[in-house]
Amino acid sequence: MTRPSPAPRPSSSPPSTAEEALLRAALAEGREALATGDVPVGALVVTAAGDVVGRGHNAREATGDPTAHAEVLALREAAAALGEWRLEGCTLVVTLEPCTMCAGAAVLARVSRVLFGAWDPKAGAAGSLWDVVRDRRLNHRPEVVGGVLEDECGEQLRAFFAAHRS
Ligand code: ZN
Repeated sequence: MTRPSPAPRPSSSPPSTAEEALLRAALAEGREALATGDVPVGALVVTAAGDVVGRGHNAREATGDPTAHAEVLALREAAAALGEWRLEGCTLVVTLEPCTMCAGAAVLARVSRVLFGAWDPKAGAAGSLWDVVRDRRLNHRPEVVGGVLEDECGEQLRAFFAAHRS
């Protein structure tokens, strides 16, 4: 996956080992999607204390639901676990840059941070094609760190599409 050239890199801090560990956990979650022929994208919601309260993997094929993206499912699970829709203090971790829907959902859930792996120059809405997450007109703008474990996250997708193209 190529990097978006003109867009500013929305990384406010360099990726740490802790962030890479979160992306590795999201990659493992993304692998679950393969069982149903879904595109392997995995997401987690982690509290400020470091507890994983939501997990999700892309399940559009499994459920026939066009909105069953990893991030939406993880945010729903986290809200259910915490008993409220406000996920302030939480980090949304996802292997691929969120699309417009998921970036919007992250803003609505008021997560404090979005941490993602591979950039998505074709549909990314956290700095590539759009920047829904950090639009200055919004009151709530999560911090965005992109490109963490970019190669591994991109490879998981490349392998999937290579296998499905033949
Ligand atoms: Zn999405």
